[in-house]
Amino acid sequence: MTKPHAIVIGAGFTGVAIAWDLTQRGFRVSVVERGPIANGTSGRTHGLLHSGARYAVNDQESAIECIQENLILRRIVPDAIEPNGGLFVAVQEEDLAYREKFIEGCAACGIPIRELTPQEVLRLEPNLNPRLLTAFTVPDATFDPLRLALAFAASAKAGGAQFYLYTDVVDLLRDGRGNVCGVKAWNRAADQRFHLPAEVVINATGAWVGQITAMAGVQVPITPTPGVMVAYDKRLTQRAINLLNEPGDGDIVLPQRRMMVVGTTSFTIEDPDYVPVYEDHVALMMERGAALIPALRQTRERGAYMATRPLIGATAPGRSISRTFKAYDHAETDGIEGLVTITGGKATTLRLMAEKTVDVVCRKFGIEVPCRTAETPLLSYRKFYQ
Ligand SMILES: Cc1cc2nc3c(=O)[nH]c(=O)nc-3n(C[C@H](O)[C@H](O)[C@H](O)COP(=O)(O)OP(=O)(O)OC[C@H]3O[C@@H](n4cnc5c(N)ncnc54)[C@H](O)[C@@H]3O)c2cc1C
Repeated sequence: MTKPHAIVIGAGFTGVAIAWDLTQRGFRVSVVERGPIANGTSGRTHGLLHSGARYAVNDQESAIECIQENLILRRIVPDAIEPNGGLFVAVQEEDLAYREKFIEGCAACGIPIRELTPQEVLRLEPNLNPRLLTAFTVPDATFDPLRLALAFAASAKAGGAQFYLYTDVVDLLRDGRGNVCGVKAWNRAADQRFHLPAEVVINATGAWVGQITAMAGVQVPITPTPGVMVAYDKRLTQRAINLLNEPGDGDIVLPQRRMMVVGTTSFTIEDPDYVPVYEDHVALMMERGAALIPALRQTRERGAYMATRPLIGATAPGRSISRTFKAYDHAETDGIEGLVTITGGKATTLRLMAEKTVDVVCRKFGIEVPCRTAETPLLSYRKFYQ
């Protein structure tokens, strides 16, 4: 029997994880990406492998997804992860008011935490604000964004997936009934235009999903929600540092190799191809980061950058939108066969997002092969180029 052909649009975390899962469940896979691997948001995150503690009070569905996927990713892709742990730190009296809710939320979500005295914390992380009031250890970690994406892409490639990089999807192919039956692509490097027919097209374009669904004349509720981050030229902590409070601006500071990254803000935009890095956001990151780690004031700023979250939902302000995800089969929502869209989620939940999306795709073809990506170690990121 010939394998059904699935096209994945987008080679960010979501697209490469979907491509890997599809190859394991009996599909012939093509990935069409307008830039290199991790060209979009995935190449520009903090790189925090969430323990879920950040969402344990207000968004427990995401918190549970994060802790479960955190443990799975440590097993299947250890080379992309620095298992350095994290801390939630109270620096003001108002942070202490969050302490009880935090303890209860983490317990409810199965996130192991341990409270430390300020002396214990400062022994672990001498660059933290010495006036800190309390702190909890959490099983956060740091991931290398490119290695994480490349490990999934390398595994997908070894499973037969074909990657069309620097290739835009400029339109969808439609049959006589308006159903989607492939893509029209444009290879920018060679300036070649071609048609790629397929039985199903999976729209994994993150903040750009609306541009692809518009090609089919339909909409999905998504709020492109960018954030600004600032990188510093020195590593000042070993662990990921979070403020012990409701998620807010500039409350995550974490090491990325020999640098520190402070993030992030949250605002909404119309066009994901034009996202300004506002000066006042950069200043706010520097001020909030220094409240947690005063030595940042004396550390050279390496650069400021931004990325855009593809959050689900169309109206709520960014911080109030759940970090969970949703896969749409447009046959069910809009009566258009051949197109599936995935929105929302986090880097930490990329594998689970892929599992649920591929479940939707498999149902369409009556394929009953179970997902095995949680138990299958990925190839090294190096293999993508071999
Ligand atoms: C500021 C910020 C910090 C974050 N930090 C973290 C963190 O620390 N930990 C965490 O777990 N999550 C974090 N996230 C969330 C996480 O980064 C995103 O959820 C994730 O990267 C989204 O991946 P994606 O593959 O869905 O989208 P993307 O990575 O944006 O991938 C979409 C891809 O589609 C491609 N594309 C678009 N249009 C077309 C087209 N027409 N043709 C072909 N290709 C196309 C783009 O080039 C892009 O590569 C952060 C998000 C932001 C904004």
